[in-house]
Amino acid sequence: METKYIFVTGGVVSSLGKGIISSSLACLLKARGFRVTIQKFDPYINIDPGTLNPYEHGECYVTVDGHEADLDLGHYERFTNTPTTRANNITTGRIYQNVIDKERRGDYLGKTVQIIPHVTDEIKRNIMALGKTGDFDFVITEIGGVVGDIESLPFLEAVRQLRWELEKDTLCVHLTYVPYIAAAKELKTKPTQHSVKQLQQLGIQPDVLVLRTEHEIDTQMRKKIAQFCNVAPEAVVQSLDAKSIYKVPVLMHEQHLDEIVLGKVGIIPLGQPDLGPWREFLTKMDTSSEPVTIGLVGKYVELQDAYKSINEALFQAATYAGRKLDLRYIHSEKVNPDNVGAQLGDLDGVIIAPGFGQRGIEGKFVALEWCRTHDVPTFGICLGMQCMVIEFARNVLGLKEANSTEMDPHTPYNVIDLMEEQKSIHNMGGTMRLGAYDCRLAPGSKVAAAYGATDVKERHRHRFEFNNDYRERFEQAGMKCVGENPATHLVEVVELPSHRWFIGTQYHPEYSSTVLSPSPLFTDFIAAAIAYRDEKNV
Ligand code: GLN
Repeated sequence: METKYIFVTGGVVSSLGKGIISSSLACLLKARGFRVTIQKFDPYINIDPGTLNPYEHGECYVTVDGHEADLDLGHYERFTNTPTTRANNITTGRIYQNVIDKERRGDYLGKTVQIIPHVTDEIKRNIMALGKTGDFDFVITEIGGVVGDIESLPFLEAVRQLRWELEKDTLCVHLTYVPYIAAAKELKTKPTQHSVKQLQQLGIQPDVLVLRTEHEIDTQMRKKIAQFCNVAPEAVVQSLDAKSIYKVPVLMHEQHLDEIVLGKVGIIPLGQPDLGPWREFLTKMDTSSEPVTIGLVGKYVELQDAYKSINEALFQAATYAGRKLDLRYIHSEKVNPDNVGAQLGDLDGVIIAPGFGQRGIEGKFVALEWCRTHDVPTFGICLGMQCMVIEFARNVLGLKEANSTEMDPHTPYNVIDLMEEQKSIHNMGGTMRLGAYDCRLAPGSKVAAAYGATDVKERHRHRFEFNNDYRERFEQAGMKCVGENPATHLVEVVELPSHRWFIGTQYHPEYSSTVLSPSPLFTDFIAAAIAYRDEKNV
């Protein structure tokens, strides 16, 4: 079958959850046996979100092939259980970079280079790139931003042209907001009407409207919206606030979103999507009441999206263990020796978060010393692992001024340091150790037992590394380097075998945790936290 292109646009306001709607639709189509991928086109001028701090854009997600990507790609993977690549996330910056490179090479043969057709052609080429591989029946393209933004205009123009060129093989799903005016006790459809008008002015007629709302939208109102917007009444579906994002695929299916979409691209929907394993997960989620309490020590605790993939990996692991995740954010800048017991005392497990820079680092050391000396299940991720190493060096090896050269370039004990090849790099964008690397785990280690394997592959995003000059001293004192890259011998995992569960990974296992295949390491960490909780409660 010809690849079908589904475009997901947004209107009225941002943050309506286009990523969740795109992911849910993909999840349903996949459960019907189709091969589906989702890509995000972001209108900002950064080449990729790698140089954006979490205050700007939440977590930076990393793909297997080492692309620093928008956090929506994390949702795509969690919902579809299929890895994404750098081709799944394109920004205006990348489009312009490609166009300008072509201009410099002379590819445009002396023509004046313009937004239409050169920029729009480049966008179209990128939209169709994954479809052209022949690997997918459906390519869902989420257009970032809101209709009406100046910066998304070239993307929408490219969508208009593709719809014209590919006709029945394309479809536009427009997500809007229906606000509830409490004083009038009324839902209002006007913003939706206006945003559809804006889209129509750009030459795009949506086929399906998804209405985000906090209150049930009745049939009468849906009919009214359908009539004003030239959309079939059954193609106006609501997306009520759900208790969990993982319920959205089922809520969409109940309103026949998958059937409507298939019908519109000329495919007769046969049977039902196989949502068995997904529904089992939801049932577990709804029936777990006993909590497991995990503390996440980091410096971005006020930002709900900064540790998105860690939150989701913990949630998935807790759900499969039949527990309700009680996640507490602990501000690393506010942890000190006087309050650490009070802050961490009733936790069943502690995560020391990834991050960059000095801020909040001392609090992480204080938390780690407390966890180590109280034998609390503890999981250090990336910077969290590096902090485990530094804390151990300072307090067990007696190297008081041990540090990472990221925090103190002149430390006499550079237990975490840059690799030689990193030292000459000055550009910030895309120059870290990025993407999936092989890791060999020591047989008999806790981490190998957790994976049930000795050869794994996980994703990285960091510059600094464990300094192998110190390896023997750490091992002799009880901190074992139980995971290493087979080619470079870089240390990827450390653990304290003497402890309940004290493991640090230089990589980020959270990126590969999905609903249908949760990360074994998170699953094992949660199991250890539950065992510790039960032990405390006897
Ligand atoms: N700042 C550390 C490094 O660059 C850790 C990065 C991270 O936690 N993602 O090595």
